[in-house]
Amino acid sequence: MASSLEIVRVPVLADNYVWLVHDAASGETLAVDPSVAEPVLAAVADRGWRIGQIWNTHWHGDHIGGNAGIVAATGARVTAPRAELGKIPNVDAPVGEGDRVRLGAHEAVVLAVPAHTAGHIAYHFADEDVIFVGDTMFAMGCGRLFEGTAAQMFENMRRFAALPDETRVYCAHEYTLSNGRYALRAEPDNDAVKARLAEVEAMRTRGEATVPTTIALERATNPFMRAGSVTELARRRAEKDAA
Ligand code: ZN
Ligand code: FE
Repeated sequence: MASSLEIVRVPVLADNYVWLVHDAASGETLAVDPSVAEPVLAAVADRGWRIGQIWNTHWHGDHIGGNAGIVAATGARVTAPRAELGKIPNVDAPVGEGDRVRLGAHEAVVLAVPAHTAGHIAYHFADEDVIFVGDTMFAMGCGRLFEGTAAQMFENMRRFAALPDETRVYCAHEYTLSNGRYALRAEPDNDAVKARLAEVEAMRTRGEATVPTTIALERATNPFMRAGSVTELARRRAEKDAA
């Protein structure tokens, strides 16, 4: 089995996380959803790495805004959702459901997870128990339904929930405190939510990141993953949007 991936969080803009993924065996480094170029290039330079690839999950500016600057600086190859090609410039490798993408010897499978945007994808390194979910799922939350339906998001949550417990989930925003407060409103008797919200409040007070999360933790505390029906997910999404 190949050596494991090193994953580095680069906090940018108000609450975005860009993820750097480094494979020591090949020396390759990848940036997931670079909102901006400079802080990402600086974080890479600090470590003596060089970005060879960019993987985008969807077309929103806070996920692709750094593509051009990073490509200009490094010549990185851009992988992005085929279904959003018209909205993401200069894509080298358009991908969709079931496609496989590589970093060194490590392979990730692409999952189509439409709802936040119509072509949103996730990247799952099954051998590493790591998934990059963009804005489809957050710690204790899910993305807004800008271009899709509650039924699609319900299916996305069902697929994520079927991943192994220990899977580390890398989301693209630090939204956990707001999500946790809503989670307690959705499930006031859920002790796991109460405990996690207290922990998240303490972590945020200390300025600590609460991402990545895990599938096990989300199964216990995420009101969207825990929704029992499309109707319940839709109602919860509407309540959270109005909060
Ligand atoms: Zn987005
Ligand atoms: Fe975003």
